[in-house]
Amino acid sequence: MLDHGTLLVRGAADAADDPTRSVIQPIYPSTTYARDDAHELPRFRDRTLCYARPDNPSVRACERTLRDLERGSDCALFSSGMAAVNAVLEGAVRGTSDASSFACSPSRGYFAVRARIREWCAARGVEVVEYDPDVPGRKAALVWVESPANPTWDVMDLEQVVAVARACDAGCVCVDSTVLTPICTKPLSFGVDVVMHSATKYLNGHGDVVAGALVTRECDDRWQRILHERKLGGATMGSMDAYLLSRGMRTLELRVRRQSESAMWIAHEFEQYLRSRIPHGAIVLYPGLQTDTTVESKNAHYDIVNRMCPNGVCDYWTCATSLGGFESLIEHRYSVECAPGEKEPHVPGGLLRLSVGLETKEDLLAGLKRGFDIALMDVVGASVAT
Ligand SMILES: *Cc1c(COP(=O)(O)O)cnc(C)c1O
Repeated sequence: MLDHGTLLVRGAADAADDPTRSVIQPIYPSTTYARDDAHELPRFRDRTLCYARPDNPSVRACERTLRDLERGSDCALFSSGMAAVNAVLEGAVRGTSDASSFACSPSRGYFAVRARIREWCAARGVEVVEYDPDVPGRKAALVWVESPANPTWDVMDLEQVVAVARACDAGCVCVDSTVLTPICTKPLSFGVDVVMHSATKYLNGHGDVVAGALVTRECDDRWQRILHERKLGGATMGSMDAYLLSRGMRTLELRVRRQSESAMWIAHEFEQYLRSRIPHGAIVLYPGLQTDTTVESKNAHYDIVNRMCPNGVCDYWTCATSLGGFESLIEHRYSVECAPGEKEPHVPGGLLRLSVGLETKEDLLAGLKRGFDIALMDVVGASVAT
């Protein structure tokens, strides 16, 4: 099996069977494909081409690269990460014959996915159990895992989740691996059934495509139901987006490597800085740090972090939703996800989510420190004045 770097480069340049011998995979905008004199449909690589909703060579080229990166049996791309989540619910939960089946969803994780699982199951009378942190040992149609969980980055032991799920004969273990990418972890190698990505984030990495992906360990009946759902549900990716995604993925390994190194360094340095400025309870949550603290869901430091967000306060950080792009982003997730005054918010009010980009790490740290100092001065100033 090829190494990441080689796979990413060769996968994207795999156009040897194109009649023009283009080194770069062509973009195929056509929505349909002509039959020959014998009324046969054309074949291209591993696909018969009939109509572009289920079959498009540009999309397929990108799927093959991601399938190989995750060491899976097949990959399907979707028009968004959420469309991929829907397809898993349709394929794994609706497809079960067990009427009493239920789904497990982590109590921390990407809010839209958790909301979707709850809504979808409620409409179909399927019970949902939210777990934190241990997966309940009951037979579930679907065990949804997100590790590290966005935006608190709680890490789960995939091997253990799979062991518990197998012991109680769970139907499908699906891991949202958006944050780690196949460069950092390959969930299928832990026995997980399906890996999901919001390809909008690190996989594309350039902030110009909304896309989702599923990679399966086996091409079983569930996978056929998932493909069927994409075909009839119509959550297809277009050829232009597939081209941009293929292009973005060529640098995936370089980007993830640099972003992880910068993030680790900034997390460590900024935590030291925070401790020197406000010793009571300011922490940085990053899976690589030894921070032995759980996040409190109270609003400690709410005023400070809220003042760091407006654009222009932290130099080199853009206040915007999303993560995993080449540019560094900062966001107060509480303001985005939670209703004002919510009693038990699932995201701490004092939490800032940072997505470290490709800028020089020293600049990013300087921007954060300065933004923090400005915010602290504002808050201290305000409390002195009142
Ligand atoms: C963004 C995101 C999603 C949703 O993906 P879209 O491409 O926005 O539809 C799902 N899971 C995680 C962890 C995400 O960050």
